Amino acid sequence: MKTHAQAVVIGGGLVGCSILYHLAKLGWTDVVLLERNELTSGSTWHAAAGIHGLHDHNNISKLQYYTMQLYEELEKITGQGCGIFQPGSLYLAQTRDREHQLRMQAAKAKYFQVEFRELSRDEAEQMHPLVNFDGIRCIMYEPDGGNVDPSGVTHAYAKGARNLGAEVHRFTPVIATTQRDDGSWDVETEKGSIHADVVINAAGLWAREVAAMAGFELPLIPMEHQYFVTETIPEIEELGRLLPLVADRDGEYYLRQEGQGLLVGAYEKGGKFWAEDGTPMDFGHELLDEDLGRIEENLLRAFERIPVLAEAGVKRVINGPMIWSPDSSALIGPVPELKNYYCCTGIIPGFSQSGGLGLVMAQWITQGEPEMDLFPWDLARFGHWANKAFTKARAFDQYSHRFKIHFPYEEREAGRPVKTRPAYQRQKELGAVFGLSYGYEHPLWYAGKGVEAKEDYGFERQDWFESVGAECKALRSAVGIIDVSNFAKYEIKGEGSADWLNRVVANHVPTETGRSCLTPMLGVRGGIAGDFTITKLVEDRFLMIGSGIAERYHQRYFNSVPRPETVSFESLTEAWGGFNVAGPNSRQLLGRLTDADLSDEAFKFMRNQAISIAGIEARAIRVSFSGDLGWEIYVPIEHQLQLYEALLKAGEALGVRPIGGRALLSLRIEKGYGSWSREYSPEYWPQEVGLDRLIKLDKPEFLGRDAYLAIKDKPPREKLVVAEVETTNADANGGEPVFLIDGTPVGRVSSGAYGHCVGASLALCFIKTDYATAGTELDIAILGMPHRAKILEHAPFDPKGERLRS
Ligand SMILES: Cc1cc2nc3c(=O)[nH]c(=O)nc-3n(C[C@H](O)[C@H](O)[C@H](O)COP(=O)(O)OP(=O)(O)OC[C@H]3O[C@@H](n4cnc5c(N)ncnc54)[C@H](O)[C@@H]3O)c2cc1C
Repeated sequence: MKTHAQAVVIGGGLVGCSILYHLAKLGWTDVVLLERNELTSGSTWHAAAGIHGLHDHNNISKLQYYTMQLYEELEKITGQGCGIFQPGSLYLAQTRDREHQLRMQAAKAKYFQVEFRELSRDEAEQMHPLVNFDGIRCIMYEPDGGNVDPSGVTHAYAKGARNLGAEVHRFTPVIATTQRDDGSWDVETEKGSIHADVVINAAGLWAREVAAMAGFELPLIPMEHQYFVTETIPEIEELGRLLPLVADRDGEYYLRQEGQGLLVGAYEKGGKFWAEDGTPMDFGHELLDEDLGRIEENLLRAFERIPVLAEAGVKRVINGPMIWSPDSSALIGPVPELKNYYCCTGIIPGFSQSGGLGLVMAQWITQGEPEMDLFPWDLARFGHWANKAFTKARAFDQYSHRFKIHFPYEEREAGRPVKTRPAYQRQKELGAVFGLSYGYEHPLWYAGKGVEAKEDYGFERQDWFESVGAECKALRSAVGIIDVSNFAKYEIKGEGSADWLNRVVANHVPTETGRSCLTPMLGVRGGIAGDFTITKLVEDRFLMIGSGIAERYHQRYFNSVPRPETVSFESLTEAWGGFNVAGPNSRQLLGRLTDADLSDEAFKFMRNQAISIAGIEARAIRVSFSGDLGWEIYVPIEHQLQLYEALLKAGEALGVRPIGGRALLSLRIEKGYGSWSREYSPEYWPQEVGLDRLIKLDKPEFLGRDAYLAIKDKPPREKLVVAEVETTNADANGGEPVFLIDGTPVGRVSSGAYGHCVGASLALCFIKTDYATAGTELDIAILGMPHRAKILEHAPFDPKGERLRS
């Protein structure tokens, strides 16, 4: 075993081997994989290994397609069989919502230019004569669907990596990982130690234990999962061909042919945890006790759908553990608190995703960032608030509802509340319906009189539509109070603060006390890694406000710029709360609570002052994400409720209304404002989203400067535009593909909402530059069906910004 390597991958499951292969493929050939036992000794060896292409998230779909194509290539390159069977998949819809979902997926497939098409019942019966299609309202066919051989695929990755120079050591458990002062790692095993520049935790079922060796925790918990394989079924034997997979998600089971029988698996309601407190080190190629009774309800539905199944004998039952994150998506990326330590863990559909995961991990490690936005997989989406109780409750909920439709705006109740702020109870009394915002309960909308403070979910407009509309109109016509405590807030102070900030962000940090600026932060490829408001409070003291969900994510970038000892950086996100008071009456409302002069002459747009409001010392910044006249007011969190009460009372005669996150979404889209992780992500270049004007190249040094120089003169690949959509019952909400009228795919929606104050359904879309011109007619696939839309000249609300500056 070598004593030094560029990277050590811990874990020789499907995923670790794929990472090793991709690292070597991208040029890091001095890499080693250490496996405790035989390769595949975790969840991998006993998996059903079904593969699918489409996913609700566009980038994950791309990575799943990449994975499905890679298996064939791997076989060719390595000569190692991957046991690829691709008889296709039949997706069945029993409900109207499932039909919407399948039609949406079909529209996305058209956008990706892959096949996913509707079949008639006759066609489906010919393909799979053993299925009873009664009660099925829509059938879609994905020709690439199928399954692979778990061991074959894992060994193919390992062989491909070895062929490129990588080393694989089996029966070599990692027993410790210790960081050196220079940020490199000593990876210890009983056979010796390897000094590595980078460590990757791909330890699957043992990811928690391996993380603990480096001193951190991952929000993961294993659960048992069962499938069984039947004896030979004569009807299948007679057919003499491979039958397609059956994805009857409403029936909550999965089913495919295995040999001359069937393989059926199910995620039952009330799943069972396994090894909650730690995965035993000696667990290997063992299975857990079978208990098909637990999945009986799911099986009865499968028997109805495929009657021959009910008569078939059971040949073998597989009950194995798989490890779940709180939202059932992978936890990947560099650990923000550690240098040179990456994770790729918590993967449920490993066989659909292994290639894509390996590729993006290798890009991250060798190039500094993956080439696409992967926030839905980024481990930084969870902070320390995702504790054991939360993880357990959420994983249970995810497992029990594995095949449930995830509706837009859906907020799962499980494990909540985790954290609340002082105004929570009062907001509740006012009718607030809450969502989870980076661990905190945050108001989404307020139920008006006679409306129940409860949500239903669906793809079409829901009951909250009118309440949200009333909030938007109240803000635009009078005044609204938006809780912005969920924004991330950082204080940077000490001698050299301005210099340090100027090396982090792309705009000039304000030089004059009392001024604020908007600024992007650029990523390793020159894309938008963040967008912030930076306020100069006093000399050598700044307040930086950014996206709350990205606090841990942004930490990676902040940490990458060395901070002089004189400069301190403190997160005030927990310690401070705030409200945005916005709308034409906001000045009057605040004027009732402060002696400060709020006139435009004395308190201009993008300025800030320390003022006293209702007797509370506050920081007021004249900005508003609603696009209206307004101030963000920040106070120590212990004063949040007192401030809230005072604002509500002072606004009584001025038409004040509490405003939730859904209304803010509609308001910011009317104004054409982008939001982090939707319109702003490292995937997009500044010139594509209109932030290039804020990049100041006269500064000699800042994050991403060189990368930006390399792309700055390139024409934008796509442009962010606002489109008005013709629709009556459902609005775009993000991810919908966009076509020209002749069906040519030209882009996708990043955010969408009904603009209540401009009376139009709106969508922010990324459109190929050649077509991103005002007046271009488009078809946006809402509910999977084309909806005519037109690109607007500018955002429909106050394009000149007169309201903001009034
Ligand atoms: C019953 C069942 C059915 C499934 N069906 C499907 C399916 O149909 N389709 C699909 O896509 N997915 C399926 N899965 C999920 C799939 O198995 C996982 O997504 C995948 O195997 C995860 O691979 P991994 O490499 O991340 O983890 P693992 O397979 O758990 O691999 C982790 C490896 O790390 C090694 N390791 C741990 N600690 C150390 C250490 N200290 N030192 C060195 N090595 C270490 C382990 O020995 C192990 O080999 C199924 C899972 C189960 C349980």
